[in-house]
Amino acid sequence: MKEMIISNLKQVHERIENACRLSGRNISDVQLLLATKTVPADKIRIAIEAGETLMGENKMQELRDKDSGLKGLNVERHFIGHLQTNKIKDVLKYVTCIQSLDRISLAEELNKQLLNQGRNLDVFIQVNTSYEESKFGLPPNEVLSFIREIKKYDTLNIKGLMTIGLLDVEKEKMQPSLSLLRQIRDEIYAEGIEGITELKLSMGMSQDLELAIAEGSNMVRVGTSIFGNRFLGKEIWNENIAE
Ligand SMILES: *Cc1c(COP(=O)(O)O)cnc(C)c1O
Repeated sequence: MKEMIISNLKQVHERIENACRLSGRNISDVQLLLATKTVPADKIRIAIEAGETLMGENKMQELRDKDSGLKGLNVERHFIGHLQTNKIKDVLKYVTCIQSLDRISLAEELNKQLLNQGRNLDVFIQVNTSYEESKFGLPPNEVLSFIREIKKYDTLNIKGLMTIGLLDVEKEKMQPSLSLLRQIRDEIYAEGIEGITELKLSMGMSQDLELAIAEGSNMVRVGTSIFGNRFLGKEIWNENIAE
């Protein structure tokens, strides 16, 4: 198991490096986040001990269940799944970043809890760039006004935009949903909103990380190519399964 994870990680890093080289990008501009839904803590531990520093979970319950198994590891945990308002308090115990901020009510409640705790939180705004109804995220045309609206919450550090993108076997079908996130970012830059100087793009998964890097991704979130298939029937890849 250990050898497999280490060798998969090496391959994923090679894919990232190749994609950077092909698009003339600096490797240090693209981070790897381990997407660890359904992956047990002992497997995650192997990847972290091999040098990974970032992981993302989709469910509060998994954060909690794996917490003790990850003790002593130097890893930053992000939340990348759909977040229900009533789970915020628990999720905040484990994470330093929420990548799935997609509605005002969530921002409002986060701000409230964070004020109580006297802390700030990094957030990415999730955008539904594939226009699929099954996916969470803001519609692309609402992102700008959303940013203007949540800027008033000083507890939220707006770090960037996140998308899942359209997954397909054909590159030509996946690409538009990735380039759209970059366009949205550039439109926001063009507005020159005070305080918004840099927005990272979190996009690219096992299937489309090369394309995402070519489109400007700063963080690829990879699960399957590192830990193997999740074998969970309908849950195989659906991030939207509510708890
Ligand atoms: C599962 C998941 C990933 C990783 O997907 P893989 O295809 O396993 O690499 C990335 N982002 C989110 C939000 C996910 O839920």
